[in-house]
Parts: sequence; structure tokens; C-alpha cells
Amino acid sequence: MIEGRYFPPGSSQALPARLWSVSGELRLMLEGEAAPRHPRLVSVSDKLASIPRKFAFHDGGVFEAPGNTDVDGMMASHGSFFSRLSRIEAHKGFVAGAVVLTVVLLFGLYRWGLPALATGAAIATPSALLSTMDAGVLQTVDRAFFKPSALAESEHERIAAIFAELSEISGQKHPPLELLFRHGGRLGANAFALPGGTVVITDQLINKAENDDEIAGVLAHEIGHVQHRHSLKQIYRILGLTFMIGVIGGDSGQIVDDVIGQAAALQSLSYTREFEADADRRSVEIMTQAGRDPIAFVRLLERITKNTPSAKKTGWMSTHPGTEDRRKSVAEYAEKIRTAR
Ligand SMILES: [Zn+2]
Repeated sequence: MIEGRYFPPGSSQALPARLWSVSGELRLMLEGEAAPRHPRLVSVSDKLASIPRKFAFHDGGVFEAPGNTDVDGMMASHGSFFSRLSRIEAHKGFVAGAVVLTVVLLFGLYRWGLPALATGAAIATPSALLSTMDAGVLQTVDRAFFKPSALAESEHERIAAIFAELSEISGQKHPPLELLFRHGGRLGANAFALPGGTVVITDQLINKAENDDEIAGVLAHEIGHVQHRHSLKQIYRILGLTFMIGVIGGDSGQIVDDVIGQAAALQSLSYTREFEADADRRSVEIMTQAGRDPIAFVRLLERITKNTPSAKKTGWMSTHPGTEDRRKSVAEYAEKIRTAR
């Protein structure tokens, strides 16, 4: 039994009262009344230092227990609605369930929400910003990895002419396409596309090619990345994820961080493959239209992986996984286009 004060509905005048429970039901007895009342409990305020706990009732009345009362002990023993609620909250299974639900929601947001956001943002970015991004990225990779190309000027001109031919066929205008030659340094046999239309190809990749169609296919693939705005989408996705981890990561604890980390790793892998498949198909389309061999570049990729095992880690292949599947789908798509013409 708790000795405290009772505030009638809508009144701030305190009346001395007692609160106790009888077989799971609360009884409230006001001083001077002959029989106890049967109040319906709605809520009990949280325990906060020695601040008096308040029992709010359905009719608007409030019972206030002195700060030092063992309210929780009484609530736990009397089996009311509130004590059931307390038990549910304290039950580990329910808490775990809530964590799982939260993680599933977060994963859903990441898996389906962010790509949509990322696509929208990628489409909205003005091309002036893209050129700035290209220049910045180039400066960084030039300083960190690349050296000037050591190939003969005549070779640059021949490959630049192929690139111009493919660019024309691709119909890409904004941002305009530009080809740069570099010695790959530690990045070895490599090629990549920047968001503003800059395509970089390394001497080592060119030297591994046995004919121009192999090089042309890689260039067409990179043009595909530019046209699908892949690097922008990737950047926005990473930014989005970082932002999200920043917002929720701090309070949500290690489990949620780990699960999001895993989801991010899985997601970025499948995302990359999705991009590669898109770029491969675009390459096949452009190469077919150019009257060039649309599957030649896959042979070049296979040669790079086979002859230089380190290329798996640092070369073009590191971001371009699954050669076996890839050869198959490229060949199938090339056949499909050929028969449709
Ligand atoms: Zn690619």
C-alpha cells in the first residue's frame, strides 16, 4: 500500500489518499471516504531520481506517490495492465525482435530507397560540377598513381581516332567525352570513366591488346559508364550511406552498425555487377554499330587476368568481376543484337 496524494480530474488540489492492489486490480481510497474506488490505470511516470511518481487514471485523476516509494515493486506484484507492459518491455525476445525489425527497415531503405535517391541526384547534377569533379579526381590519381604515357604519338592518334568514332556513334554530347592516355604505374592495365565524360586508358592495357577491336570494346564500355552516369550514382550512394550511418550509427550500437556494414558490402558488390552489365551491353551496342567485333574486349580482359595475377587486385578486373559469366552474357547479347538487325 502506498500513502500519497490524489488530484481529482481537472483539479490541482491534493487530497490525502492510499493506493493498493487486490488480486490484480487497483484500489484507491481517499481520506474521509467510506469505500475504495476502482480506478483504471493509464500510465505511471518513469522513475527519475526521487521525483514523485504519478499514476494517471482513465477519468483524468492522478495519484502521486512520494519519491522514495517502491512503486516498481508494487506494480510488479499486482499484475495490472501496466506490469504486463513492463514485463514485455523487459523481455529480451521482444527487444531483439524490435532490433531485427529496425535493421530490416534500415536495410530496405538502403537497398531500395537510396538507389532511387541516388539516381535522382545523379540526373540533377549540372555538368559544370561534373567537369570540376573530373579535374579534381584526375589531379589526385595523377599525383598518386599515374605517369605520363610512354606510347608513341602515332599510337595515341590511332586510338584517339577510334575513340572519336565510338563517341560519335554513342551520341553522347553532355557531358562531352574526352580520352586521356596515362602510364598506369601501380594501377597497371586499367581503364576508367569519370563522371564528367573523361575516359582514361593506361599504356599497360593498350600493350596487352592484340588488335584495335579489343581496345575499342573497352573504350565503348567506358563510354557506357559515362552514359549511364554510373560513377555519380556510386558517389551519391556512398555519400548517402555515410550520412545514414552518421545519423543512426551513434546511438544504435554495434549490432546495427555491423549489419549495415555487411549489407553495404553485399550491396556495393551487386551494384557494381549491375553497372558492369549495363556498360557491357552498351559496349556491345556501340561496337556492333561500328561494325567492330563486339566480344573482342572480353578476350582482352581474360588475358589481363590470366597473365598478370596481380591485375586481379589492382587492375581493371578488380572492379570488373566474373569474367566467365560476363563472356557468356556479352556473347548472348551480341548474338541477340546481330539477329535483330
Ligand atoms: Zn566497367
